[in-house]
Amino acid sequence: MKVAIFSSKQYDQQFLRAANREGHELVFYEPRLTATTAPLAKDFPIVCVFINDQLDAETLEILADQGTQLVALRSAGFNNVDVAKATELGITVVRVPAYSPYSVAEHAVGMILMLNRKLYRAYNRVRDDNFSLEGLLGFDLHNCSVGIVGTGKIGQCFAQIMKGFGCQLLAYDPYPNPACIELGVTYMALEDLLAQSKIVSLHCPLMPQTHHIINAATLKVLQPGTMLINTSRGGLIDTPAVIDAIKSGQVGYLGIDVYEQEENLFFEDLSDTVIQDDHFQLLQSFPNVLITAHQAFFTRNALENIASTTLSNIGDFAAGRPCINQVKLT
Ligand code: NAD
Repeated sequence: MKVAIFSSKQYDQQFLRAANREGHELVFYEPRLTATTAPLAKDFPIVCVFINDQLDAETLEILADQGTQLVALRSAGFNNVDVAKATELGITVVRVPAYSPYSVAEHAVGMILMLNRKLYRAYNRVRDDNFSLEGLLGFDLHNCSVGIVGTGKIGQCFAQIMKGFGCQLLAYDPYPNPACIELGVTYMALEDLLAQSKIVSLHCPLMPQTHHIINAATLKVLQPGTMLINTSRGGLIDTPAVIDAIKSGQVGYLGIDVYEQEENLFFEDLSDTVIQDDHFQLLQSFPNVLITAHQAFFTRNALENIASTTLSNIGDFAAGRPCINQVKLT
């Protein structure tokens, strides 16, 4: 079947072509899918998208009018899709529920080590023949209290790794994970977790209930100097509120792989552009903030799994088989 693949990079082409054993007609488009670019998918029964493609009501109506029947997400998160509208229009939405929770959990841990031991500063300093240790002081992770918000697949991997460091693991999740309880994770209310953790790592999905779960009120509960890590979705954090908390010292370190307005920035080379997002520029200016551009998933293993599950989702739909990875309206 004809598949229009949006937001595609060279690596998407490489892995999707390799996984395309059934010979679907894959057409790669670099632009993001929006209402403006949707006409590129005219007469394509299948549209394949990533996290910053915009599948709002307007885009979905254009797609439905043009004959699209399936939206195949190359991601686990589906907060960028108006699933109710897709259902109303008879468009099936499928996703890749798990491709490598290790990739994201390991990146979160990398951010913790980078911020704690100031490796970004140490690397540049030594290259400059400056061997001073001033300003590089860190803290032991052993015995450190680590709060995990969301203990699904990624949160569980993160808990396993942090247990290896000898951390005390605290968690908040409306649905506690028995595997995490077995690891020794202590579940508690969000407010208690925020008050007791030296490091807080976010691993819950972005939904109306979790939008700005980290806001001015919840930030006040933190211990001064807490490390906050977000590899989940930008919308979990109220950016102006976290900027205030960094300025006051309430947040001592911030590591983010995701940013609420990232669709205007991430995945592109903007090095010759004057970035207009003042909040982002302010965050970049702080010495205790580490930003990566939504790369936590970006391992060879994850890309292979994303490509094979996406092609198998497309194959199921094309053959009229039930789509096991369908996103259903809850
Ligand atoms: P998952 O569905 O396995 O786990 C999510 C967990 O969050 C579940 O245990 C659920 O009970 C819990 N949860 C639901 N509502 C909550 C709430 N209000 N407060 C706290 N926890 C709540 O998902 P996963 O595979 O672990 O992925 C988690 C998130 O990571 C995804 O939703 C996605 O946004 C993000 N992600 C980011 C990247 C990246 O590259 N940065 C890659 C993949 C996934």
